[in-house]
Amino acid sequence: MNQIFNHAPTHELQARDAAHHMHPFTAQGQLAEKGARVITAANGVFVYDSDGEKILDAMAGLWCVNIGYGREELADVAHRQMKQLPYYNTFFQTTHIPAIELSERIANLAPADLNHVFYAGSGSEANDTNIRMVRHYWAVKGKPQKSIIISRKNAYHGSTVGGGSLGGMSAMHEQGGMPIPDIHHINQPNWWSEGGDMTPEDFGRARAAELEEAIKQLGADRVAAFIAEPVQGAGGVIVAPDTYWPEVQRICDHYGILLIADEVICGFGRTGNWFGSETLHIRPHIMTIAKGLSSGYQPIGGSIVCDEVAKVIAGDEFNHGYTYSSHPVAAAVANENLRIMEEENIVGHVRDTVAPYLKQKWEAMTDHPMVGEAKIVGMMGSIALTPNKATRAAFKSDAGTVGYICRERCFANNLIMRHVGDRMIISPPLIISNDEIDLLITRARKSLDEAMEIVKVQGLWEEK
Ligand SMILES: *Cc1c(COP(=O)(O)O)cnc(C)c1O
Repeated sequence: MNQIFNHAPTHELQARDAAHHMHPFTAQGQLAEKGARVITAANGVFVYDSDGEKILDAMAGLWCVNIGYGREELADVAHRQMKQLPYYNTFFQTTHIPAIELSERIANLAPADLNHVFYAGSGSEANDTNIRMVRHYWAVKGKPQKSIIISRKNAYHGSTVGGGSLGGMSAMHEQGGMPIPDIHHINQPNWWSEGGDMTPEDFGRARAAELEEAIKQLGADRVAAFIAEPVQGAGGVIVAPDTYWPEVQRICDHYGILLIADEVICGFGRTGNWFGSETLHIRPHIMTIAKGLSSGYQPIGGSIVCDEVAKVIAGDEFNHGYTYSSHPVAAAVANENLRIMEEENIVGHVRDTVAPYLKQKWEAMTDHPMVGEAKIVGMMGSIALTPNKATRAAFKSDAGTVGYICRERCFANNLIMRHVGDRMIISPPLIISNDEIDLLITRARKSLDEAMEIVKVQGLWEEK
């Protein structure tokens, strides 16, 4: 790996960063005191920092670098496209070859009649598109009052005002006047934290039934769509019990509610199929995509739309679009990313090789005294930290206190594993090897041991 060391010293970079750079989802003051870790290079599943440390990135950046770091083909395509046509829009009766090729490829990969792509610069923007598109769809069909979108608490659908409103993160809703009107949140299918005395199966059915109750209470003539991640990602890699999705699908079908699958994380191989909807056997009308679409090499997102919705809104002008919708460089890079994924059968590598191996190692971590449940679908996994496995107790300290301690030990041990509250989560690059999975697990276990020690020493091993 050709590490470049001719940069300023780390402490100086950190001071300049703290002086001028505002970080997303960050307590700025705290970070300024501590100093951000400066990432300078990356290759495969590893990132390198300004002190020369080699860190295993078990989060694939932000769930996005599916193909791994350092793929020269993607850089070459971007370079060529910038020289050929760096930018042109597709607003006013024009198009370009990257948009044509990418849309065709996505339509071929997507299941059923999901054949049409509306582009955005990100997943959040794509979900903003979805809000307007489903409401517009019903309006064109003569039902403008069908405007409510049902979502779930602790869902993540982005950070724009629209995306953050669809999402069910209370900490986000508390800031900046969200949610917007006509978004309704039901409870999430998180059995570990909220299942009480129910079996997972009964709990899955009960949480799905909340969708039906909400539709009845709001009136089916008022509800436009239900949106959900096939597997909740940022909420802590929450995998619904098996009974949940079949029931949700039945309810959407029965009441004529559009189903939007937010595939921003699950899409493009993460769950062992091209789309999480295939893994979970759901039939959405619209899929939100971003992240793995370009493996994060360029910012691009979009909505894959079924024939029916596309046909209905085709008659009128849809007064919506972004300057960077179908950006030619982003589209060319995404297309090359997907071409490589197909050619190298990366989805097959996940399904047949690394996902089964990781599942076995991941689930074995429940032998650790602090690990309650271990959940995993394809290459996204979570473990719940607990002081009492039998009762599924939460720690007495504020949620996230113990998770943060564990995350800090991971970071110190050159493993990037995130925490959501007191759940630890991973989503490594899909090209990871079994040997690299061994390294991931070794570092995770070491970090868990160290974190447990700290938790005990600090008197935090206490049940709520
Ligand atoms: C990351 C994410 C988004 C938002 O995508 P951005 O590109 O960050 O705007 C939306 N939905 C899900 C499920 C995500 O994980």
